[in-house]
Amino acid sequence: MSDVPETSKREEDEDNTPDTEDQSEDSSDDGEASGDTEMDFLRNLFSKTLGISGEKVLDELTLEGVASYIKSGKCKNIICMVGAGISTSAGIPDFRSPDTGLYSNLQKYNLPYPEAIFQIDYFKKHPEPFFALARELYPGQFKPTVCHYFIKMLKEKGLLKRCYSQNIDTLERVAGLESEELIEAHGTFYTSHCVSFMCRKEYSLDWMKVKIFSDEIPKCEKCNSLVKPDIVFFGENLPKRFFSSVAMDFPRCDLLIIMGTSLQVQPFAALVDRVSKSCPRLLINLEKTGGENPLLGMIGLGGGMDFDSAKAYRDVAHISTCDDGCLELADLLGWKVELEEVVKREHEKIDSKAQEEQANQSDGAAGKVEPANAESAKVYSGKAESGKTKAE
Ligand SMILES: [Zn+2]
Repeated sequence: MSDVPETSKREEDEDNTPDTEDQSEDSSDDGEASGDTEMDFLRNLFSKTLGISGEKVLDELTLEGVASYIKSGKCKNIICMVGAGISTSAGIPDFRSPDTGLYSNLQKYNLPYPEAIFQIDYFKKHPEPFFALARELYPGQFKPTVCHYFIKMLKEKGLLKRCYSQNIDTLERVAGLESEELIEAHGTFYTSHCVSFMCRKEYSLDWMKVKIFSDEIPKCEKCNSLVKPDIVFFGENLPKRFFSSVAMDFPRCDLLIIMGTSLQVQPFAALVDRVSKSCPRLLINLEKTGGENPLLGMIGLGGGMDFDSAKAYRDVAHISTCDDGCLELADLLGWKVELEEVVKREHEKIDSKAQEEQANQSDGAAGKVEPANAESAKVYSGKAESGKTKAE
């Protein structure tokens, strides 16, 4: 369950990012950040219209070129931008992928229109379809991919500025990224909150999971309002931290690595243009994506990436799965063995924990068993069709 569909939020929100709420986190940078935004915009506008181009940083526009740049020591702040493609090898369906047939599968929920299932107003009146779908798509296990561990490795090498994720599957956290290094642009299933503004009590993923699989609409234990996972619905704002962090991080980025996203959802997609003109951008994806928007290009606001034209000087497209791309890059960096070991070790840990949990469950069968594991495994293997929806 990665990737909530695009939100209605647009970039203008950036301007009214309230200082108050973020002050605690990034007090020193905050005032500067809003000024930066404007300056970046002007700088971009001028450099684009005047035809000033960035400096060529990479020796060659290949994965090798990127690797030797990283090894040179000049590349200190790497930003990763990731989408559903980094989680598909973990067996997590992409909401937007036509293969999952998600939207065509929604008829049984009697929605007025398919997107209503992620619409906040509809959800507050009819939460059943959303939770039925959540149960249906709930991953059998949460096992991060090679790509997730590669990002974690960037962190450990002191190279990761931040990871911007469109995914809501929490795998970055499972792989070991801390809240501070992570911007979950579309929110996360990791936490849930009571929808009542007066209450806003927080609930954990474990709590939510029990509710989801017990066929029970999650209600707040304090005030009996609905409880909703912290994923961003249509009609809801992107997390404030998204906008303030973008303004701080992107101008200081030395290398942007974009993985597993088709860059079609705003405002996420536009982030590729927020780095400096000299900052190399590496795309690891199954297809080339993120090219220039022709309309904006005409008025000099261009944007988008240029992999192949005669003027290409900083964008590298590596067409492969995210896992393969990360392994190849790790190999070029001399990290491959280390990465493979981390993946093996971490996966073993997750497996043995799952086994333990299963054992505990069968031990205390009559106790407070949550059917989660067994049930989700069934759902996972395609059983979910039985459609025990309560939607009227
Ligand atoms: Zn409440």
